[in-house]
Amino acid sequence: MENRRVRLRFAPSPTGGLHMGGVRTALFSYLFAKKHGGDFILRIEDTDQTRYVKGAEEYIVEALKWCGIEPNEGVGFGDGPHAPYRQSERKELGIYAKYSKQLIDGGHAYYAFDTAEELDAMRKRLEAAKVAAPQYNSVSRQNMRNSLTLSEDEVNKLMEAGTPYVIRLKVPRNEEIRFHDIIRGWVVVNSTQVDDKVLIKSDGMPTYHMAHIVDDIEMEVSHCVRAEEWLPSAPAHILIYKYLGLEDKMPLLAHLPLILKTDGNGKLSKRDKSGIPMFPLDWHDERTGETYTGYKEMGFFPEAFINMLALLGWNPGTTQEIFSLSELEQAFSFERVNKSGAKFDPEKTKWFNQQYLRMKSNEELAELFSPILKEKGIVAETKFVEGVCNLVKEKAHFVSEFWTNGSYFFIAPTTFDADVIKKRWNEQTAVFIKEIAAAYKGINTFTAAEAEATFKAVAEKMGLGPGQVMQLFRVCLSGVGGGPMLFEMAELLGKEEVVKRLETATATIK
Ligand code: GLU
Repeated sequence: MENRRVRLRFAPSPTGGLHMGGVRTALFSYLFAKKHGGDFILRIEDTDQTRYVKGAEEYIVEALKWCGIEPNEGVGFGDGPHAPYRQSERKELGIYAKYSKQLIDGGHAYYAFDTAEELDAMRKRLEAAKVAAPQYNSVSRQNMRNSLTLSEDEVNKLMEAGTPYVIRLKVPRNEEIRFHDIIRGWVVVNSTQVDDKVLIKSDGMPTYHMAHIVDDIEMEVSHCVRAEEWLPSAPAHILIYKYLGLEDKMPLLAHLPLILKTDGNGKLSKRDKSGIPMFPLDWHDERTGETYTGYKEMGFFPEAFINMLALLGWNPGTTQEIFSLSELEQAFSFERVNKSGAKFDPEKTKWFNQQYLRMKSNEELAELFSPILKEKGIVAETKFVEGVCNLVKEKAHFVSEFWTNGSYFFIAPTTFDADVIKKRWNEQTAVFIKEIAAAYKGINTFTAAEAEATFKAVAEKMGLGPGQVMQLFRVCLSGVGGGPMLFEMAELLGKEEVVKRLETATATIK
């Protein structure tokens, strides 16, 4: 095991849009693979044809690309030495049949011919007998139609007649199954709790249990990282490896903790109402007609999304919160992944985006802002747009807020905050605004410092305190009562524009 090459796979089923929990599974696998110079594989587990959703596979590929966690092997990423990477195509290789035959030959799996009605009757019988968790197992299978209860002759006849059958794992009675999980430590389960899982379905398709084991073996996967919901099936998987005599090929297991709702009550749902997306990209579910907004479309940076996700269940053991992808690759380890569920925090999620927004240069921000300006029909000089970004970025979480909170930089106000006007506009302050406009006309180099000094001098001369005129002045320039640093804003607007706006305000405000 020690000498094995580190190979991790992300193995989603294309049953819908990949939600953020799935992205986190991919991320942790990616980080571990990168840290150890290994491979990160994308395998599509599409053996359940009834749950197949059109577009889901493309979505998964696009989402991983947007997040910057690209597999170096697998569907959508140029395949690799173990192609094909879709289980429906791998079935053609005959590998699932081969391994299940091996289990049957070894006496560890069997054919079961029970119809849906017979299975239902069994369940009802067990329920009537007050069996807590009715299941097909070492006890109940004795009363069913399978190759353990039927004679060889009968089995052959049923087969020849084309009777549908499944292949089930023969789980022993009352045996201790022990396995190690990198996150949870040793787990011990009694085989009584494990059912005789179906390995091959009546349509010949393998179930998840069989298919993922065969593929993990064939693809030489070293670590199997997946959601906590798979923990209860892990004992059955341990038995399969054992019965195949391939325990040495078994990947190390890591079952990730759940992502919980903000209040810690239960699993985070894709219909969460916090206003923060649950999907990396917009997802439209054709079956239900539902549409979910994506992080990308809401204006999150992929770096912020990834950083937030990494800390949902993992911690670096220090107070550091901001991590680039390559820093995460260095810092990540499964030992620091919690066993207990991780609470999703919508506010913190926005905070991460804010941090990344602040780290961007004004040039970068201006570039991100320009499509919005274009859409609004605004034509402005790049330097001016950069200046606006510089001023409005402090209070924003998203670039889209630059417009919501700073459109007045581009369009002079025609209305003025009524509350502020009501409170502050009077004969004296009206004169002040006129005086300021006049005084500003005389300034040669209109800097923030000059604008401020002049402002203060005029106010002092008129016996007005800053509280009486500061916000009013802001409203005259922008129409609104709050915003970025006032005199920096004036400098950016420029002398002519400031004077013009003050004059408009004087003419408009009654
Ligand atoms: N296809 C499984 C899922 O989508 C993968 C679980 C695993 O990684 O083994 O949950």
